[in-house]
Amino acid sequence: MPNDVLNGIVLRSTDYRESDRILNVLTKERGLVAVTARGARKPNSKHAAFASPFTYGEMEVNERLGKLQLSSSTVFESFYSIRESYEQLLSASRITSICERVADSDPNDALFLLLYHSLSVISYGENDPKDIELCFLAKLLKLEGFAPALTYCVKCGADLRRNKEVRFSNSMGGSVCERCGSAFVSASAVALEAFRRMMLLDLNDIRRVKLPEQVRKELDSLLYNYAEYVFEFTVRK
Ligand SMILES: [Zn+2]
Repeated sequence: MPNDVLNGIVLRSTDYRESDRILNVLTKERGLVAVTARGARKPNSKHAAFASPFTYGEMEVNERLGKLQLSSSTVFESFYSIRESYEQLLSASRITSICERVADSDPNDALFLLLYHSLSVISYGENDPKDIELCFLAKLLKLEGFAPALTYCVKCGADLRRNKEVRFSNSMGGSVCERCGSAFVSASAVALEAFRRMMLLDLNDIRRVKLPEQVRKELDSLLYNYAEYVFEFTVRK
């Protein structure tokens, strides 16, 4: 079988056998793939530079018995600075692990671009990496068809934009007025507005995201709870 050229970002790298690595890569052409990089852990391996998380580049792969093997690779961007800060590493790792859970073997340009821009801003931006992580999650929810209602009550339809505090229901898909859902978790108008804006924000503008501490805390809990509910998986935190 002839070699195939794939552009991708390494989401995870797992040591395998004595000196190999298995790479889980989000590619433009074939969605999520697993590629074996033989000898990648040997000193002076030609795959060493490519075979680590967050690396964006081009791979030449060949397919044998349905399994992909890396034959050559070119690094376009290593996002190296992510590895130099604990907070950056943590946020970037959550993003790649969520990507791995939602991606499948269909090409998904929008997901690829969202991942690329998020890693890029975490690596080079001045932002709190948590803000980019939350922005990634908000945009991913919209991308996957789970944008929640945030300006009106999902039950009675009441306009909630003048309310300072409302409720939020995962199962009902968004904001609920006090009368309809006093048992649900409360959410501040500021946090819901930040959530709404992040979903709509152009990818080139995500470096502008700067959340106030209180909003960041609130959304960290609300967004992850909602995402875990709709995606039906637990995000490792
Ligand atoms: Zn209501």
